[in-house]
Amino acid sequence: MLKRFPPKFATPAELADHQLSGLQWTVRHAWDNSPFYRNALEAAGVTPEDITSMDDLRRLPFTTNQDLAAGYPFALRAAPFSDIVRVHASSGTTGKRKVLCYTQKDLDDWQTMFARCYELAGLTREDRVQIAVGYGLWTAGIGFQLACEKFGAMAVPVGPGNLEIQIGFLQDLQSTVFCCTASMGLLLAEEVHRLGVKNSLNLKKIIMGAERSSSAMLGIMHEFLGVEEIYDIPGLTEVYGPGTGLSCSHDNGIHYWADYYILEVLNPETLVPVAPGEVGEMVYTTLRKEGAPLIRYRSRDLTRLLEGECPCGCPFPRHDRILGRSDDVIIFRGVNIYPGQVDEVLTRIPGIGSEYQVVLDHGEDGRDYMLITVERSRNGEAVSDGQVIKAIVSGIKRTLLVSCTVELVDYGTLPRSEKKTKRFFDRRRF
Ligand code: ZN
Repeated sequence: MLKRFPPKFATPAELADHQLSGLQWTVRHAWDNSPFYRNALEAAGVTPEDITSMDDLRRLPFTTNQDLAAGYPFALRAAPFSDIVRVHASSGTTGKRKVLCYTQKDLDDWQTMFARCYELAGLTREDRVQIAVGYGLWTAGIGFQLACEKFGAMAVPVGPGNLEIQIGFLQDLQSTVFCCTASMGLLLAEEVHRLGVKNSLNLKKIIMGAERSSSAMLGIMHEFLGVEEIYDIPGLTEVYGPGTGLSCSHDNGIHYWADYYILEVLNPETLVPVAPGEVGEMVYTTLRKEGAPLIRYRSRDLTRLLEGECPCGCPFPRHDRILGRSDDVIIFRGVNIYPGQVDEVLTRIPGIGSEYQVVLDHGEDGRDYMLITVERSRNGEAVSDGQVIKAIVSGIKRTLLVSCTVELVDYGTLPRSEKKTKRFFDRRRF
């Protein structure tokens, strides 16, 4: 396993050594080359010489997206412009985009990490990889493509959207791998089913990024497209872009490339590590990133670390799928709810489809109400409406500790989109 793009360690102790030397290099590099980090480290009273063990990670100051906004556009730059060969940008929360700088080494490292994803997903040089994600300032399209070429498979860079062209190329070029968002994968599956052209395709695998997906969505893609494997690829522009880890065929969370970055999972309020298995915010520290190194960068993404070894044999540690963003946490009747929890509940309930909407509203009695509208599955008649509603209400009560009303609608009723599908609507007035 992973012979072409192997881990840079053989044992957990070697990984720890590798991470410590990478941490020391990063703090020194940031101190020497970035006024922003120099100020932040001095304010925290830490110098590069102070980093002597992994415990010293906790002494380092956090970096946030506000820091990126305040120092726009080159906030985290830690290499001379003559060494910066590319920038990428993603949307920021305050209106300004987040701009990240890359040296050639950063791009090479990113491609190596991403090529490792293709290797873990079992691709060969014979595969044909149709890339249906965005190009341009985004890291998505070019990330998928350059790594595909480095890996040695054939890239089919179609770009996002346009189902007709996608299906045409899937048929004519016999693409074996499709890279997309979960929403796009669902749209494609439903369109292929509607046209009745599944047997003209040669798709084996889907690699999906950028969005949560439910078991029902995955089920539809397996059935309508005939794919054998569906992989989840995490990605954050600040941490190179997509390809910094991959789910495996055992569907056991996401293996992440711990030889390129340190991942902490912290309580977003207290900023101390959560207990193993508990949900917290993902905080990144890169080990060899030159153009825009990250020191304890708060991503706002929520997940949990998964313990133990994965039966697939991949030696990399794992985190769960992204369960939401700490910015998205909704306070409902005094309880903190994050949208991914609703996915988790619905995923376990038979007889429903992939699509749902949650509406929070303020009742005339002054109380808040939650209405969940859920699609029935296509052939879900074996379970009665009453049973489905009861299962959802009790699942939500057990997991979120709140009450809800459930409305069932026919399969195909709720809107689909090619990008991220909006599922939460908060109509309360504060
Ligand atoms: Zn695994």
